[in-house]
Amino acid sequence: MYYDAHTHYMAQTEGVTQINNVLANYTNPSFALYRSVGMHPWHLDDWHNQWHQLETAAPHPNVLAIGECGLDKVTHTPWALQTEVFTKQVLLAQSLQKPLIIHCVRAYSEVASILQKAGVHIPVVFHGFSKGMNVATPLLQKGYTLSFGAHLLHKNSNTAMVLQQTPDELFLLETDDADVPIQMIYKQAAEIRKTTEDAIILQVAKNFKKLFGVS
Ligand SMILES: [Zn+2]
Repeated sequence: MYYDAHTHYMAQTEGVTQINNVLANYTNPSFALYRSVGMHPWHLDDWHNQWHQLETAAPHPNVLAIGECGLDKVTHTPWALQTEVFTKQVLLAQSLQKPLIIHCVRAYSEVASILQKAGVHIPVVFHGFSKGMNVATPLLQKGYTLSFGAHLLHKNSNTAMVLQQTPDELFLLETDDADVPIQMIYKQAAEIRKTTEDAIILQVAKNFKKLFGVS
């Protein structure tokens, strides 16, 4: 079984357990599948309404995580609004004891400081990780998980170096919004970590199940 920790494609693929990311209309009745629900910093125009829906949907057992949520220094959404809405979601995740899936653009220390202040003891996943070791090291030291996607397909990138050096228990794989099968990401991850695809399949399954509390 392959595990896709974060995807925007709702279609289910045979042999893949995936967490579909839902950015709005959280109360959509088709909750038969695993979901993450969260308010993305790009889309906060109607956040009061969204917050109400989010609070209602989040306790559902098939909602495996809160997110993607986070901070983004490149978007037009006002910074104060981003931090307020992100903090609320961190506290929601903490109160439900569900993991967080983080969207972060040029705001790693700010995200880390909000997590620190909130004193979170829940798993934290930085999704779509595409930075180098300088950004990865402090996150890994705090025990946060890095989730890698299509950036790995640029084989000699800084991101590939990060995956090479990430401890076994602190990585996940994802497709996000890339039109790439998750199997291709696994294959690439195996090459980068100089191991077999079977070993990656076993490790990611173990990490996914432990982090999201599913069997
Ligand atoms: Zn995404």
